[in-house]
Amino acid sequence: MNYHQYHPVDVVNGPGTRCTLFVSGCVHQCRGCYNQSTQRLDSGHLFTQELEDHIIADLNDSRIKRRGLSLSGGDPMHPANVADVLKLAKRVKEECPGKDIWMWTGYTLAELDDAQRELLSYVDTLIDGKFVQERADPSLKWRGSDNQIIHTFTLS
Ligand code: SF4
Repeated sequence: MNYHQYHPVDVVNGPGTRCTLFVSGCVHQCRGCYNQSTQRLDSGHLFTQELEDHIIADLNDSRIKRRGLSLSGGDPMHPANVADVLKLAKRVKEECPGKDIWMWTGYTLAELDDAQRELLSYVDTLIDGKFVQERADPSLKWRGSDNQIIHTFTLS
């Protein structure tokens, strides 16, 4: 998997102070995409074991308390990304007690296949669906257009 950016301290993408990873690769080609440079799978940088370890350490860093990890892109649910994102999400749940996972994907919940649903089982909050320019609303929290739905799977 490739990624575009990693923000170890982020207060914009999800609630509270978080770590945020923007992965590479997205098939949805939404008109008006705000992250067009992340659409190619081979764009950005290689996501290494070292960075995975670094994210886990950041989430457990008691000097700057993070509420959780945000996964965006690109699309963390891109079929080519699912295995690596699943590995990371499992480690967050096993090694970072109490940290939540928020994820943004261009797929709707109903479109997810079995592998994507396995990854979903580690996600606390999913914002789903393509960005639809005609339905864009800058006043919306956590989403760009009002067709996108915030699914909350766990109470936190
Ligand atoms: S799902 Fe997101 S990253 Fe993918 S094309 Fe749409 S707006 Fe861009």
